[in-house]
Amino acid sequence: MTNSTKQDWERAADSLSFNGQALIDGVAVEALSGERFDCFNPATGRTFATAASCASADVDAAVASARATFEGGAWSQASPTERKAVLRRFGEFLQERAEELGLLISLEMGKPIRDAVGIEVPLAASVLEWQGEAIDKVYGEVAPTGPGDLALVTREALGVVAAIVPWNFPVNLAISRIAPALAAGNSVILKPAEQTPLTGVRIGELGLEAGLPPGVLNVLTGAGERVGKPLALHPGVDCVAFTGSTTVGRLLLGYASESNMKEVRLECGGKSANVVFADSGDLEKVAQHAALGAFWNQGEVCSANSRLLVERSVADELVELVGERARAMRIGDPLDPTTDLGPLVDAAQAEKVMGYVDGARPLARLVTGGRRAEGVESDLFVEPTVFDRVPSDAAVAQEEIFGPVLSVIPFDDEDEAVRVANGTPYGLGASLWTQDISRALRVSRQLRAGTVSVNTVDAYSVLTPFGGVGRSGNSRDQSLHALDDYSWLKTTWIKY
Ligand code: NAD
Repeated sequence: MTNSTKQDWERAADSLSFNGQALIDGVAVEALSGERFDCFNPATGRTFATAASCASADVDAAVASARATFEGGAWSQASPTERKAVLRRFGEFLQERAEELGLLISLEMGKPIRDAVGIEVPLAASVLEWQGEAIDKVYGEVAPTGPGDLALVTREALGVVAAIVPWNFPVNLAISRIAPALAAGNSVILKPAEQTPLTGVRIGELGLEAGLPPGVLNVLTGAGERVGKPLALHPGVDCVAFTGSTTVGRLLLGYASESNMKEVRLECGGKSANVVFADSGDLEKVAQHAALGAFWNQGEVCSANSRLLVERSVADELVELVGERARAMRIGDPLDPTTDLGPLVDAAQAEKVMGYVDGARPLARLVTGGRRAEGVESDLFVEPTVFDRVPSDAAVAQEEIFGPVLSVIPFDDEDEAVRVANGTPYGLGASLWTQDISRALRVSRQLRAGTVSVNTVDAYSVLTPFGGVGRSGNSRDQSLHALDDYSWLKTTWIKY
């Protein structure tokens, strides 16, 4: 990194300029209404830019552009080698601009700069590279028919994909939708969260610079109701790829059924359990992972390990260690490279988190945290909070909080651990710790979660599918399986 101190990052942030215009058909444009909305920095509580406030007329224009480009074939029919080169270049551009993109992420949603530049942007760049490489390596199939018949099974692009994404990993989650959708040959309309529009616009600009034909990647900034809803109701959209809350995911299913039965790919909320057996070995190591799994990114992670299930004989010792780790985390200015935890994204989120904390106080033992942090510029910083002996049916242990709040639930045996771990409507991630290989295999098979991490937390890679079951959704990001979300299978049967 060229910037290494807080002052360096502040200077770099001051030198940024933001146009905040939407991108339609390869052109930066204002919303047709001319309206704009404020971009707010949660670390300072101040507005620092504005962005175009799009609405249904802008959605119509973006869909028309995406549809025409798709039908025109400039991208959908381009040779695989050409498309591969563009996506790879897109990834390289992201990596080259990692500091600028990281700053945007940090300013818009409060992620510590170290993680934005060092983790999120490189991850997104690698997703583009990986999906780009897949383009000329995934083959179709020839079915085992009898003589005189040849049956081909090929993947076809869906057409126009609307990617509606959240603010917590605004670059990686946008790219995790865009990259496989483009790799499969679709045209895409990105709808970033209203908290992170500038990051979304910058992604679109870099895609254009990398050589995506105009109209292949459009970006519409604005509110969910004004942009996301008309996209999801639009008859010209073939697929909504949504990453966000379960509440909105449910609405999208309704919009699709009311309109054209478009595909709805959902990556929704989670309430992941981290299950620690007494034979897990090094409790210090477990505690370190448990704290990171619960508090990293301020706990604003869909698969955050927000429930710690601990075998009773080691529960007190582990809770003590996790409490120590939580207290050691540095809360502060996200532009300070030594900061571990920044602010929550906005006032509504902070209120929601404090509501869960207050609701849990009479039910459980507060080990550490439970307050808004002091000595910081805004009131959106919340201390990492640990509650012990939480009843497994309490709201704090059942519902997604999306903040730095960990519920510890002791258990007595394996059956109870599995029952409690599976006892929420979600099924995104789960972790388990044991030195007993048979137990690891037995329990991981019983855990109802898209990803089960054994002797680590929250395993996540471009190599393996990521997504959930139940109210966590039905979609898969990453790996070749991501392509399934953006293509359909065609059979061509030839008699000869
Ligand atoms: P959100 O559901 O409020 O918003 C997500 C996106 O949907 C935003 O772009 C928003 O503008 C849009 N939206 C809102 N209302 C809409 C409507 N009526 N119609 C269409 N679009 C609408 O979620 P959020 O607060 O931005 O993000 C947090 C949530 O995202 C958490 O629940 C988290 O678990 C989830 N998430 C899931 C994953 C995953 O991979 N499973 C990853 C990250 C975040």
